[in-house]
Amino acid sequence: MVNLRTMLESLKGFLKPSTVPYPYKEIPPAEGYRGKPLYDRDKCIGCGACSQVCPAKAITVVDQGSTRVLRVWHGHCAFCGRCEDTCPWEAIKLSREYVIVTYNKEEAEDKLELELAACASCGSYFTTSRQLAKIVELVEESINKRGASLEEYRKLISLCPPCRSRPEALKEAFKFMLKMG
Ligand code: SF4
Ligand code: SF4
Repeated sequence: MVNLRTMLESLKGFLKPSTVPYPYKEIPPAEGYRGKPLYDRDKCIGCGACSQVCPAKAITVVDQGSTRVLRVWHGHCAFCGRCEDTCPWEAIKLSREYVIVTYNKEEAEDKLELELAACASCGSYFTTSRQLAKIVELVEESINKRGASLEEYRKLISLCPPCRSRPEALKEAFKFMLKMG
């Protein structure tokens, strides 16, 4: 039998609901909530380190012609944050977005396309243009300090790994190293 106290509690529920009105109203997540990982479109250089450490295999890196396509599949993500911890450039972060239910496949991922660089010798695509630019940016100061040529260095790194290991390329790399001391 329903007692008076229970009836009063039920009536109070009409005036002030005990549950939240989600999904009709968005609920702000708690501080530090780990939601969808998203790329920073300006910072990512397409190195793929985040995909190597993802335990859920939620990040894919695929080269298609002259483009590298990076994807984070939110439906596969375990929201562990390893991608964010690993990225050296703070280019992927767990956002506070938590709604991953969608009828649209494109909304279930964060996709980023980056231009690939072609080898100056054989023409095969081997890394992103951004990654090459980042390498130059990192060593520029020490190359200038030692009076070596940045252009020469650019030429050396514009070769793909197989072309870099050819005798004539190795000779050029060795000469450059000598200049760098
Ligand atoms: S998000 Fe970071 S680790 Fe992942 S590909 Fe971009 S730069 Fe590399
Ligand atoms: S948060 Fe974890 S599971 Fe999700 S994409 Fe990053 S590394 Fe993978």
